[in-house]
Amino acid sequence: GGLLDQLAFKGGRVIRTRTEVKAVNNVSFDIQEGETLSVVGESGCGKSTLARTVIGLFPPTFGEIYYRGERIDHLSPSKMLPYRTRMQMVFQDPYASLNPRMKVKEILEEPVLFHGSRNGSISRVEVEERVAAVMEQVGIDPAWASNYPHEFSGGQRQRISLARALVVDPEFIIADEPISALDVSIQAQILNLMLDLQEERGLTYLFISHDLSVVEHISSRVAVMYLGTLCELAKASAIFQRPRHPYTRALLSAIPTLGGSPRGHVKLEGDVPTPIRLPSGCVFHGRCPYANARCMEEVPMAIEQDDGALVACHGVEEGRIPEDSPI
Ligand code: SF4
Ligand code: MG
Repeated sequence: GGLLDQLAFKGGRVIRTRTEVKAVNNVSFDIQEGETLSVVGESGCGKSTLARTVIGLFPPTFGEIYYRGERIDHLSPSKMLPYRTRMQMVFQDPYASLNPRMKVKEILEEPVLFHGSRNGSISRVEVEERVAAVMEQVGIDPAWASNYPHEFSGGQRQRISLARALVVDPEFIIADEPISALDVSIQAQILNLMLDLQEERGLTYLFISHDLSVVEHISSRVAVMYLGTLCELAKASAIFQRPRHPYTRALLSAIPTLGGSPRGHVKLEGDVPTPIRLPSGCVFHGRCPYANARCMEEVPMAIEQDDGALVACHGVEEGRIPEDSPI
């Protein structure tokens, strides 16, 4: 299938806190079945808000969300229920997201009992079989089903979080910084497990990360966000080999390379502005070495490039950003 097969998100939302904060603005994208779309940006850029909006935990104040062609924002909770089975979320902190008073089997049975089976009711034996199967699939011995979360390591707890998401047989997983709270030595194991699960189950991932280096090997495409705004959305290979937006280049330059050619670390000047009072024009202009008068006034629109990448930058559009400069 072509674009818009699985999920499309258009527009954005405004969160109301004490003052009004634009957390996600002018972001439009679609996710294709079986791919991993990673959303990368510094903390506070609106990535988590975006993820929660897509899954229906926050309603968008403007914009639209489609799932397999059906518009799903503004659905009533009961109409949203079948979508909540197909879309599951995995959170950053497996210590906080697993109830410490529940045994692993209770944690894993709960969503099955809540959602039932897609084809009707489900027997006790089937529930237990399904829990054991999903534990095995994530690499946790089902013999440990009666243990409590604190008896497991951080990596094992994140495996249990993945099992809890998978036990209702979803199509689409939103993973919000799923490895950021884990030891570096464990991170690759969880990423590899997610890749295996994707292949075995044909899963589609929306993967949220503040760290561009983490997503290099798992992403089909990468969306780079700054202050709630989409900077660049491109195939992963293009992001890493031919980044175009100055912010993408700056993020990439901060990744240490193993041997080989160092990318050259560029330190961004200026402070990250508060999202409460967004800068005029391009939200990145205060930190961008290529900012000019137009950048300070006019919001850059995402423009499609020759390879299909979307880049929102006046400098790129005007062809005045040298391809070979580090930023
Ligand atoms: Fe820099 Fe202007 Fe491009 Fe913004 S629009 S990233 S300020 S060149
Ligand atoms: Mg976050």
